[in-house]
Amino acid sequence: MTSLIFVTGGVVSSLGKGLSAAALAAILESRGLKVTLVKLDPYINVDPGTMSPFQHGEVYVTDDGAETDLDLGHYERFVRTKMGQLNNCTTGRIYSNVIAKERRGDYLGATVQVIPHVTDEIKDWVRRASEGFDVAMIEIGGTVGDIESLPFLEAIRQLGVEYGRNAIFMHLTLVPFLRAANEIKTKPTQHSVKELRSIGIQPDILLCRSEIELNESERAKIALFTNVPEKAVITALDAKNSIYDIPVMLHEEHLDDIVVEYFGLEDKVGPANLDDWLRVVDRTVNTQHEVTVAMVGKYVEHHDAYKSLTEAIVHGGLQQRIKVNILRLESDDLADNDLSQLEGVDAILVPGGFGERGFEGKVNAIRHARENNIPYLGICYGMQAAAVEFARNVCGLEGANTTEIDPDTPHRVIGLITEWLDASGKVEQRDEDTDLGGTMRLGGQRCRLREGSLARRLYAQEIITERHRHRYEFNNHFRDVFQKNGMVLSGLSMDETLVEIIEIPDHPWFLACQFHPEFTSSPRDGHPLFTGFIEAALRQQQGELPQGVAQL
Ligand code: GLN
Repeated sequence: MTSLIFVTGGVVSSLGKGLSAAALAAILESRGLKVTLVKLDPYINVDPGTMSPFQHGEVYVTDDGAETDLDLGHYERFVRTKMGQLNNCTTGRIYSNVIAKERRGDYLGATVQVIPHVTDEIKDWVRRASEGFDVAMIEIGGTVGDIESLPFLEAIRQLGVEYGRNAIFMHLTLVPFLRAANEIKTKPTQHSVKELRSIGIQPDILLCRSEIELNESERAKIALFTNVPEKAVITALDAKNSIYDIPVMLHEEHLDDIVVEYFGLEDKVGPANLDDWLRVVDRTVNTQHEVTVAMVGKYVEHHDAYKSLTEAIVHGGLQQRIKVNILRLESDDLADNDLSQLEGVDAILVPGGFGERGFEGKVNAIRHARENNIPYLGICYGMQAAAVEFARNVCGLEGANTTEIDPDTPHRVIGLITEWLDASGKVEQRDEDTDLGGTMRLGGQRCRLREGSLARRLYAQEIITERHRHRYEFNNHFRDVFQKNGMVLSGLSMDETLVEIIEIPDHPWFLACQFHPEFTSSPRDGHPLFTGFIEAALRQQQGELPQGVAQL
């Protein structure tokens, strides 16, 4: 039987439930357990695919093409288990399943209700997602006390009864420190546990987010009022250096021991081996260089909108003990060609995005990078913008554009596949009539790298798998003119019909990809494109990059 750890949050949101769950999972994994994580989100959207990054942060894409909550990104950065469709579930998804069953007559005419039908559907989901693992961590989005999370809490309460000693309830709370009184306050924690108990859930572990270490008497007080054993009242301090401190921190608080003991797994698991994480911390703290990368995007004010990307950039640095400062630039500001903000940066990156706003600013930034031999990495929209820039300014195709912005452009360098694949008769069928959520190229796809290219050298592999999330593609009718003008199409889909990576060999480091490499970067392993890009930024800073010659 899989052991379940339910993770709830109280008092306020943004306590870092996802990170704490992921960090605990990382420790348990290091003790030899096979661990997975599941995020249950109480909102009614069927998936986060159509949610605005302004409101909800990035949409994280799994290898099997699920558009998920960004917490799944944390999960994959902390554990080796790959996430997929089953690892993120929303109220909307549960209700669609229930309603589909009702329409099919599966309920045999019964009155369909939140309890038991919705809760049963949730329980089923949890069972399916956790099958085959030693431990599954189930994180409930939102804060205890929210009306919309009630069905989820009821479902996990029932699972708790069913699983007995194979289920743990871990509750995250805030223990505020009042500076004026020089005191920490336990009352919000007491209330939040009371709320949880009123719906029948008694937490087994409390993770108390606090600015200062709780002393013994404070922990004793919380334990007394919440019925949680004193040793399971744990201080979770803010991480000092980075989020990658958390596995080591929680281990020092013996969180994994408490879990292992509770589940009776002492004889089956080894001690925690956090060497990998200690190495990550060491490389974060003891850096030898510092570079600045300009990230030119549309959602730059919203840090969560580029969560995986900013993490991947950091990972790229920490592989080589380079501290990376990310200069976030609003691409709209660069639209009128005032590029003074780009002065002195060591490299430029244009991330993924959608829609018209800010596109011309991205094109300007890319031109600046190309013409001034500044290392450039383009991701998804950042590749499409690079293709548009190259078409206009190198190939002389005036007015070239993506049809996402200008459907009447004379040169549709980027377009929907259905707009340009004709004579060959091979039009990919993507149902454009369905909902917005259904028309993207999504998930991990294989790509063959061209011998002798920068991409091939960086990956040191011929075939790679990377994740996609976009509707538009590079228009194959422009392959010849691009190649004649010095662009190398260094990555193609396995059937060679889609251009996945472009690069300019006559530039010290210019590479753009149609996929999202940031989703597969991790602090322990980094990612070849980001590692190469940050290395190039450092060489640029040190004046070591060969200018205007082949980069190999
Ligand atoms: N808007 C572009 C497309 O749909 C790029 C998407 C992205 O950057 N993720 O193809």
